[in-house]
Amino acid sequence: MDKYGRKINYLRISITDRCNYRCRYCMPEDGVCKKEHQDILRFEDIIKVVSHGAAMGISKIRLTGGEPLIRKGVVDLVRQIKSIDGIKEVAMTTNGSLLPRFAKELKEAGLDRVNVSLDSLNADKFKDITRGADLKEVLDGIKLCQDLGMSPIKINVVLIGGFNDDEIVDFVSLTKDQDIDVRFIELMPIGEASQWSKGHFIPNTKVLEMVPELNEVEAQDISSPAKYYKLDGAKGTVGLINPISCTFCSNCNRIRLTSDGKLKPCLHSDDEIDLKDYIENNNLDQAIQASIETKPKEHHINDEEFKPIKRNMNQVGG
Ligand code: SAM
Ligand code: SF4
Repeated sequence: MDKYGRKINYLRISITDRCNYRCRYCMPEDGVCKKEHQDILRFEDIIKVVSHGAAMGISKIRLTGGEPLIRKGVVDLVRQIKSIDGIKEVAMTTNGSLLPRFAKELKEAGLDRVNVSLDSLNADKFKDITRGADLKEVLDGIKLCQDLGMSPIKINVVLIGGFNDDEIVDFVSLTKDQDIDVRFIELMPIGEASQWSKGHFIPNTKVLEMVPELNEVEAQDISSPAKYYKLDGAKGTVGLINPISCTFCSNCNRIRLTSDGKLKPCLHSDDEIDLKDYIENNNLDQAIQASIETKPKEHHINDEEFKPIKRNMNQVGG
């Protein structure tokens, strides 16, 4: 528990800051300054962090990045994490490009859920926002996960004014006859997007304006940051995640581990604890406890004097 009475049971781990895409709001065109091998947390250290976390009440793990599927050995990492006592759910957030190659192995290794990030259903626009990626590989990956029974697949759409707000209806339509959760996420002023003009930051209420037929439904997981909606008779749901226009901090149940081994109590704060010495001295419990104790009550994105965090999203994992 943190000092505001929130039960922290969810650890998100960025297992690499590298990516095979270059989404305009997330990464610079020429990629990231390559970190030395020794600066990236080794899998055996990630396992140590998860084991200590699990003994202290962490039960859900999400692997993210950068792109988690480009890190060698990721399937085995999933298998090892899933076998740790106390870990009930292992999920992944991915751009989906490598799902055609890995989905089956991931499922066999025990991966419970996949969130696929997809910001356009139009091949040219998708290519543009990702600076060169192929929409088909992502759609094939989603289809394969559905065929493997990894439902419901969550599709995360970052809503960007002037780019994909004209596709809201198309995204919502996906939920009509597929067991898919389409979740619209407000663009956050982090990394590349922190330099973007105001017009790109639009509130998620735009989704309800464009599709007034959506009815609010109860979220299955109350700690989920999304508010859920549904079209009459639809198989899937539509989620709205409003990190900017409406804070979900009071239900926040998560901490984050960066690819270079820093524990972050809040996405929107530069506070972090370097785990290197704690791993060496085998006192990770102390670091985890300290991180949870310093978790702020809420973020301050909307304050006049708010300064975007120094890290890019690919290091923190979203
Ligand atoms: N590469 C994987 C992917 O794209 O799903 C995992 C890492 S990515 C950093 C995780 C999520 O963060 C993605 O859904 C991405 O769209 C989102 N994201 C990145 N920058 C963002 C920003 N400035 N505001 C809102 N979401 C952002
Ligand atoms: Fe890569 Fe994901 Fe960032 Fe896109 S959002 S550049 S896929 S890490």
